[in-house]
Amino acid sequence: MSSLKITDVRAIVTAPAGISLVVVKVETSEPGLYGLGCATFTQRYLTVAAAVDDYLKPFLIGKDPRRIEEIWQSSMVSSYWRNGPVLNNAISGVDMALWDIQGKLAGLPVYQLLGGKCREGAAVYRHADGRDVEELEDNVRCYLEQGYSHVRCQLGGYGGAKGIRNKTKNPPDGVYFDPAVYARDVVDMFDHLRGRLGYEPELLHDVHERVPPIVALRMAKELEPYRLFFLEDPLAPEDVAWLERIRQQCSTPIAIGELFNNPQEWVGPITRRELDFIRVHISQIGGITPAKKLAALGEAFGVRTAWHGPGDVSPVGHAANVHLDLAIPNFGIQEWCGLSEQLQEVFPGCPTVEDGYVYVNDQPGLGIDINEKLAAQHPCSNELPRWTLARTPDGTAVRP
Ligand code: MG
Repeated sequence: MSSLKITDVRAIVTAPAGISLVVVKVETSEPGLYGLGCATFTQRYLTVAAAVDDYLKPFLIGKDPRRIEEIWQSSMVSSYWRNGPVLNNAISGVDMALWDIQGKLAGLPVYQLLGGKCREGAAVYRHADGRDVEELEDNVRCYLEQGYSHVRCQLGGYGGAKGIRNKTKNPPDGVYFDPAVYARDVVDMFDHLRGRLGYEPELLHDVHERVPPIVALRMAKELEPYRLFFLEDPLAPEDVAWLERIRQQCSTPIAIGELFNNPQEWVGPITRRELDFIRVHISQIGGITPAKKLAALGEAFGVRTAWHGPGDVSPVGHAANVHLDLAIPNFGIQEWCGLSEQLQEVFPGCPTVEDGYVYVNDQPGLGIDINEKLAAQHPCSNELPRWTLARTPDGTAVRP
């Protein structure tokens, strides 16, 4: 085993739930020993696959897969211009696969390599939505009855359920919303929910960076009496200097970070204690190796984790999320969207949920595999998701 080498690195693209996923498989000179990692940047999946197949593969073949940190560092600087969602996701695919291999070599689940369990299961939150507050309330109750204690509440997805009163002439195609109407409706929504459900359920909301910073500040203040578990992405990464103003004026807990991909974006806000939950998309920052360092930074400043966990994370990425959730002391909450039957068929060994907690199995490594034959039966598509085409009433394209 002293001469263990990487023999192949390749991207596998598949869309079992209609969302394009990228998974990286790293094979080794030891027969049958391989690892899997998530490299999903769904809107640009072909570009990530090319970064893996055309650049990382020739760079990594012949290297020792046990040297995870060295491979992460040397891969990151090998392009000279570094970070960014494409290159970080490609490196994440390799990084998670190397942790998977390291676990298989040791005969231990990855959470053991990270220091062992701090908890038995990771508490999750689910997404409830509705066309009006009554429908939303029913959907929240449905999750509470299933044993979930944390629920994210939205009306009509991101940006509100109400239509636009007056568009311009010749309005371009898009998903229209009115930021001012949306901001008012969110406050009314929580007034309704708290009035009906009380304060026992932990409720969350995702602004998805859709309002101007001053409106986000006002929303955070107006929502303070409704005691949210957290308010997610009230600001875009470009506007994080406003976090300080929000912090000074209210105690609404703030979660931010799913668009971050460079440490410079989180070091300042964390060390100034301007957020409560850091919620990066782990493959988007480069995998388990940078995520464990980010978690440790948060621990030192009282910031908990809430890793991004929607449908555009592969089951391999979800497994990586949960291994970290179990092992880090400052875990906060895990976003969870459920895994379809097709996903579970293509990816044997998926994390499982029971009574509001997610669990991984105790198999060595990440404990998850891919059935490549089945994966090939679910081709990806280049069609952009509609929600990325956000527009305000005058037709301006805005951050989705
Ligand atoms: Mg979000």
